[in-house]
Amino acid sequence: MPERGAVVILTGAGISRESGLATFRDPDGIWARVRIEDVATPEAFARDPTRVQAFYNARRAALRDLAIQPNAAHLALARLERDFAGEVLVVTQNVDNLHEAAGSRAVLHMHGALAEAACLACDAVSRWDGDILPASVCPACGVAALRPNVVWFGEMPFHMDAIEAALARCAVFAAIGTSGQVYPAAGFINAVVGRARTVEMTLEPSAVSPLFDEVRHGPATVTVPAFVDELLR
Ligand code: ZN
Repeated sequence: MPERGAVVILTGAGISRESGLATFRDPDGIWARVRIEDVATPEAFARDPTRVQAFYNARRAALRDLAIQPNAAHLALARLERDFAGEVLVVTQNVDNLHEAAGSRAVLHMHGALAEAACLACDAVSRWDGDILPASVCPACGVAALRPNVVWFGEMPFHMDAIEAALARCAVFAAIGTSGQVYPAAGFINAVVGRARTVEMTLEPSAVSPLFDEVRHGPATVTVPAFVDELLR
């Protein structure tokens, strides 16, 4: 792994929207219909685990049953990882598995993954494609104590040490389809500004657009393949 030349890509809901996945924060998104404090906090899970599991079971089922496919932007990032001479790391705020489905391998899910279950008894994380039911047992320890492996409001995002280390060595930082309103991800630009080349790809100006060297407006399926072509040229 080269010390210099690393490319770090931060992705948010905007990259998955064109795959037809319901987003969380858009005006017509999931948080417009469901209260965060009812389904996406540790307190909600303690109060009503069945309701919280049902909410995430439905999200996981949508990913599976609607046959949601990676789009041209996900595929371009997988191509970048495969063909670029240096390190490429995708840091995603998304809980879908579309980067992996496109072929990316170096992916850090800072907000967790829908298709994983975490065990409250032994901390094991297991691949989980179906529903998590009260009787579902952990494949590692056999105890029925599973929760969705997603980061709830009030919890620490995952992989922060690895992400900060990658930001410290990156030469290029690109943010794709993020609102710039959700921390800590929105603060990543501050860690690289003035030191790495920074590019934002977004449909509309984000809260942190002024901090980037370059902002490209348009659908991710157009801007991202073009950006990858440039990096590979
Ligand atoms: Zn376990």
